[in-house]
Amino acid sequence: MKELREDPVSKFKPSPISAPGFLGSDTGTASIRDIIDTDYALLEECGLTTEKVAQALELIYRKCELAMGDPVTFPNGITGELIDIRGKLPCPFGKCGTFAKGQVTLSGGVLHAPLIISPLSLHLIKTHGFFQGTSSPFRIDPRIVAEHLMTVALP
Ligand SMILES: [Zn+2]
Repeated sequence: MKELREDPVSKFKPSPISAPGFLGSDTGTASIRDIIDTDYALLEECGLTTEKVAQALELIYRKCELAMGDPVTFPNGITGELIDIRGKLPCPFGKCGTFAKGQVTLSGGVLHAPLIISPLSLHLIKTHGFFQGTSSPFRIDPRIVAEHLMTVALP
C-alpha cells in the first residue's frame, strides 16, 4: 500500500507518454489497488498466478519476436504479430526503469477483440500484478489468458 501512495495516480492517466493511459475509464471509479485486487481474485478462480500468466505471455511474445514481424498463427487460430516501435516507456509505478515500446498484437480465432502484449505490460503483470484498467486498450484480461492463451504458450 505504501509504495502505491508514493506514486501519484496521474502517472496512470492518459499522457503524451502512456498515450491512452493504463486505466481506461476506470479512472476515478476504481483505484489501482482495487483493479489489482479484483484481478488477483479472478486469477485465483482460474487457478493461475501472475507468474504463470506472465510466463505464458512472454513465451507468446518471444515466438512472435522470432518471426520478426511475420504473422504467427497459433493452434487455436489466434494470430500474433510483432510491431517494432522505437522508444521506451517508463513503468508508471516508478523506480523500475524503462521498457521497449514494441508490441505483439494478438487477434482472430477465439479472440473477440485484439489483445496487445508489450514488454511494459509483461513487467506490470509480473512485478505489480497489474493487468491495467478494464477499458484500457492495453488491458490483458486474466480470464482471456486463462481461457485462450495458457495452452497456446505451451511449447
Ligand atoms: Zn514497475
